[in-house]
Amino acid sequence: MSARIAIAGGGPSGLMMARLLAADGHRVDVFEADDEIGGLCRSRDVDGFMFDLAGGHIMYTKDVRVAAFWDELFVDDPTQEIVRDTRIMHDREHWVSYPFENAVGELPLEANLECTEGAIRAYLERPTTPEPSNFGDWIEWKMGAGASKHFMTPYNEKIWKGDLSQMNTSWIAGRVPEAPLEDILKASLGTTTEGYTHQSVFRYPSHHGFADIHERIAAPVRDRIHLGHRVTQIERRDDQWIVDGEPYDHVISTIPLHALPKVLVGMDPAAADAARKLQYRGVAAYIFGIESEWVRPYCWVYLPHAWQGPVNRMTYLSNYSPNNAPDGKGSILAEVTYAGEAPDVTQAGQKALARQLGDAGLLDADQVIVSDGHVNPVSYIFYDLEFDTKRNAVLAACDGLEGFHALGRFGRYEYHNSDQCLAQCLDLHARLAPVLGKGGGELGAPTGDTGGGNGRGGGPAL
Ligand SMILES: Cc1cc2nc3c(=O)[nH]c(=O)nc-3n(C[C@H](O)[C@H](O)[C@H](O)COP(=O)(O)OP(=O)(O)OC[C@H]3O[C@@H](n4cnc5c(N)ncnc54)[C@H](O)[C@@H]3O)c2cc1C
Repeated sequence: MSARIAIAGGGPSGLMMARLLAADGHRVDVFEADDEIGGLCRSRDVDGFMFDLAGGHIMYTKDVRVAAFWDELFVDDPTQEIVRDTRIMHDREHWVSYPFENAVGELPLEANLECTEGAIRAYLERPTTPEPSNFGDWIEWKMGAGASKHFMTPYNEKIWKGDLSQMNTSWIAGRVPEAPLEDILKASLGTTTEGYTHQSVFRYPSHHGFADIHERIAAPVRDRIHLGHRVTQIERRDDQWIVDGEPYDHVISTIPLHALPKVLVGMDPAAADAARKLQYRGVAAYIFGIESEWVRPYCWVYLPHAWQGPVNRMTYLSNYSPNNAPDGKGSILAEVTYAGEAPDVTQAGQKALARQLGDAGLLDADQVIVSDGHVNPVSYIFYDLEFDTKRNAVLAACDGLEGFHALGRFGRYEYHNSDQCLAQCLDLHARLAPVLGKGGGELGAPTGDTGGGNGRGGGPAL
């Protein structure tokens, strides 16, 4: 028997689940609030300049299943392989390699000394000082006063738009690379050390921007996607789930947990209260088509300092694929995070930001060939001090509901990149397969477009 499965959200998580379940012969309906699929992984072609709408996205994964899946997905159009070279712009002359502690010797001498001395002091003091539970204090405890002053604190204040002492540290594991003291000392004396290596080579689609991944994932289920349909009501009645009036056996929800109380009828009141208090940040992204003389040979650059304007990170997107910009031209993709009111992404806002990047010496604002902007209201989880308690309460309530599956970056409030979302889909699919069995085929297996939307290859029906 085919199961009927409603999937709320047509981002990478929802689309991958739809693909997996449809391949088993189940009847899936993907409801996407927006008028296009892809969530945070969308891309747009702006006069030949590719624009990844939520900021710089790259393909890298530690999950061998996901790596193999990508290989198959792109078998007809292999991805680009890019050697990571990223920098921190300290001042106009000093573009310090990342990770910062492995490259302190690339700083001006005085800053190098402050960072090195700070790292030694922190190293000596750590065994006798308890690990701080808030991120602001943790930075200095872990990395020392110099690294805090010259990079970590200004950068994190810029990106998180909040008081770092009001953030927890649970999200840092594996995200902030740890450099041995020996490496820092070597770096200080002028030998930049490598730092962590798992992103040292990454991939990127050759055509159509980062979106090509989910476009290919979605290809076999195109006719099961309902665009412009925001799911507003999910209710358990008897042994069925009613999603906006239609009956389903299972619901997979990638709806952000903070928005779930409005949608999930009868949600446990304490869990609903906790869900409403989860915090997040938005990202406004801007693309600037530029003359190639302004393109540096880097992947992305961190801009930690206030004098560099509001952008926290800029990506030279034209360095990822020759198809990301017209011949002889380049592009800068700039990210500005926000809490509350979104930055101006209209033409006026684009112009103002170009001026600020120009003032920092990063482009010539009068020579910008083309620009565009996009706001992504729900982009980063904000890890406040109560985050773990709130999230655990919400997930305990959701995971206790039979046939309801919370999934995805904001559907579970996990700091997951899209590869980790795909891995979670593979895990959920493996858990569901014995419960659902194989569907009948005629109801579940979609016919029609299996060759890839927008003329793109469909890849395998994993
Ligand atoms: C600045 C930035 C940089 C990143 N860099 C990388 C990177 O380098 N590599 C990488 O792999 N990942 C990266 N990510 C993470 C990646 O974008 C996410 O992991 C991925 O998009 C999560 O997919 P998702 O489907 O879970 O959620 P989303 O992409 O958020 O999609 C959720 C979808 O659900 C829809 N929706 C929400 N509510 C409803 C509703 N009620 N009804 C119907 N539809 C609804 C939304 O419109 C959206 O389309 C980055 C993210 C950001 C913000």
